[in-house]
Amino acid sequence: MNSATASLEQGVLDLGTPCVANLSTCKTPIRQMRPNTWVANKSVLQHRRQPFTRLMSSRQRFSRVYATATSMEAANVGAKTSTEDNSRQFQNLHDVVIVGGGIAGLATALALHRLGIKSLLLEQAEQLRTAGAAIGLWTNAWKALEALGVADSLRKKFIKIAGIEFLEQDGSCLLSLRLDEGPSDLELRGVERKALLEALREPLPDGAVIYESRVIGIRKLAGGYTEVECENGDIIQTKVLIGCDGIGSVVAKWMNMGEPRFAGYAATRGLAVYPDGNNLHNEAKMIMGRGVRAGIVPMDANRAYWFMVFNSSGERVTDAELVRKEALDYVKGWSSTITEAINRSSPDNLSRRGIADRWMWPAGGPPLCNNGVTLAGDAMHPMTPNLGQGGCCALEDAVILARALSKALVSNDSRQLNESPEFDLKELERINLALKSYTDVRWRRILPLSIRSYMIGVLLQSDSVLVCSVRNKLLPKLFKLERFIDHSFFDCGTLQ
Ligand SMILES: Cc1cc2nc3c(=O)[nH]c(=O)nc-3n(C[C@H](O)[C@H](O)[C@H](O)COP(=O)(O)OP(=O)(O)OC[C@H]3O[C@@H](n4cnc5c(N)ncnc54)[C@H](O)[C@@H]3O)c2cc1C
Repeated sequence: MNSATASLEQGVLDLGTPCVANLSTCKTPIRQMRPNTWVANKSVLQHRRQPFTRLMSSRQRFSRVYATATSMEAANVGAKTSTEDNSRQFQNLHDVVIVGGGIAGLATALALHRLGIKSLLLEQAEQLRTAGAAIGLWTNAWKALEALGVADSLRKKFIKIAGIEFLEQDGSCLLSLRLDEGPSDLELRGVERKALLEALREPLPDGAVIYESRVIGIRKLAGGYTEVECENGDIIQTKVLIGCDGIGSVVAKWMNMGEPRFAGYAATRGLAVYPDGNNLHNEAKMIMGRGVRAGIVPMDANRAYWFMVFNSSGERVTDAELVRKEALDYVKGWSSTITEAINRSSPDNLSRRGIADRWMWPAGGPPLCNNGVTLAGDAMHPMTPNLGQGGCCALEDAVILARALSKALVSNDSRQLNESPEFDLKELERINLALKSYTDVRWRRILPLSIRSYMIGVLLQSDSVLVCSVRNKLLPKLFKLERFIDHSFFDCGTLQ
């Protein structure tokens, strides 16, 4: 019996922190994500073998595209593991596995692809996400999209916002900002989430994204590889694991990141269609109420997305018509621009969720990267949406992370010459340094943004008559466009 099997049969299951030690010495190899899934006893060993048997069919799916994995399978695993372990442990070996096919996951896969690095993306859903209607993408996101080579195709579909009007509930104007008179590279467009995800997915090779693959378990293997288990039974090994699985990230949980903190309010979003034109003249509108605010952003001549943020206990509401009714109740008596948008939205595009964030500290918490495992997007830095920067920063993450990794991973050609799939320790060291450099850059950028966004939320969500009246009086006097948008000029650089 090899040491890994022995550990399992002895029932070693302290589900502790990630461990990279050899399994023979590692007493805490598995962090349990689902009760009774990776329980260490004999019957479970049989249970664990089942996925590998099932994998024979799904393996064909993976190896069709990923010849590297197949060549690894055939290779000698090395003296430390038994023959059974060889076939069991390295059926599906990849350089990079990404968990989650949202903005962060697809952008990371594309950035790696542009740099010649293959990755495998596991998405739990049956298809790309449409919920969340649309988001505003600022200059920093467009710089990242340029690096990814998809900016121009998206620019053709979505108009550039020329100005933002801040209104009182009755529609009277508090402040009008001309973005088209600001810095020449200032760019804000409302982009349909589905179109953004499709633009990021389209250049990827067939099979790079595997749907219906919900990751439920993660563990470190001997020698530094990370293994993930999917709900469908697939087991996959990788040198680098990137958690892009959003605010409820299983990878972040495995890395011991704290739970995101509820901000005290919720948001509803929708996408309105105007067959005869939206009449918004390329201008976004923000309507400020007491404890409630709403925004509407034109996307093209016939569509606009809207959002509403309201103080709430954050309970889940999934029935689209209840979501619509609640939204209409909040804006009763407000300018018809917003009520019309709510009524013009299809139920498929209505969604509501509680807002939460988690601040990224450089020290004092669990490390943001851990032996070949890191995070990107909301999984790493869930932030409140008050600056409209969560998705923009996810795109920045992708470019910066891929660039760092490209210097660390051994090229496929030279790796195929290797006699065994044992992780080259120098490569592992380089990967860890690359991930560290990525997280060092990211916390410096993200922490001030998260704090700023949170503070704006505190001010904008106040339901005090006094605070709201002072806010509305001071807004036109104190508001400076340059100060409001300075963070959106961050340049993540290119992928060359
Ligand atoms: C009201 C509101 C307004 C916003 N407005 C803006 C805006 O204007 N501009 C902006 O830039 N940002 C905005 N954001 C933020 C933006 O939506 C997020 O930052 C962005 O969607 C994060 O993308 P992501 O890929 O990290 O996560 P997600 O979009 O959450 O994607 C995560 C993906 O992982 C998958 N997944 C989850 N768990 C697993 C698992 N275990 N296994 C496999 N797959 C899994 C999910 O199915 C999903 O596809 C807003 C957010 C809200 C709530």
